[in-house]
Amino acid sequence: MKTLKDGIIKFQQNYFSEHKEIFSELAKTQKPHTLYIGCSDSRVVPNIITKAMPGELFVVRNIGNMVPPYGSDKYQFRCTSSIIEYAVKVLEVDNIVVCGHSNCGGCKALYYDKDKLAKTPLVKEWLSLADEVRDRILKKNLSYEEREFQTEQLNVVKQLENLLTYPFVKERFEKGELNIVGWYYVIETGDVFDYDFDEGEFRLIS
Ligand SMILES: [Zn+2]
Repeated sequence: MKTLKDGIIKFQQNYFSEHKEIFSELAKTQKPHTLYIGCSDSRVVPNIITKAMPGELFVVRNIGNMVPPYGSDKYQFRCTSSIIEYAVKVLEVDNIVVCGHSNCGGCKALYYDKDKLAKTPLVKEWLSLADEVRDRILKKNLSYEEREFQTEQLNVVKQLENLLTYPFVKERFEKGELNIVGWYYVIETGDVFDYDFDEGEFRLIS
């Protein structure tokens, strides 16, 4: 905890005092241009990866960067869904990013034995959002490494599909008022790959 408190003092002395005007403007309102949906993983930090300033990203992070399909009646799925609703209908963001990443524990856990997730029933239920991804990957004959990154990338594509089940997302996307992108971040190299909808593959952003 001391590390965090020391961090707060450094933030106030350095970053905050250097950007006082931005914070003063942000106190009045927020107008983020992008809804960022990413994994809760501590190693994947959206504002560091994108160099975005406070006020630019409206963020939801959860295990495995999941997007529950629209209309799910499961109460535990509604946190992420309500954030999508607010970002699109009220904040009227221009972009939605779904960002997956390498070495994702959530994606790894899709292949765990049922017993291994017994002590975390909430996580187990949450991960069921990617059951279809796991089942599609299992049909391929892949090495462990291939399975890992293909699961992480297919999971991004699946969550993009789920985004389009939201009628207000689909409508604005089809009118060309909303950009939807899928990214894949590699922890070890810092590379970010962008999903090409036409080619059906991820391409390095450079
Ligand atoms: Zn993850």
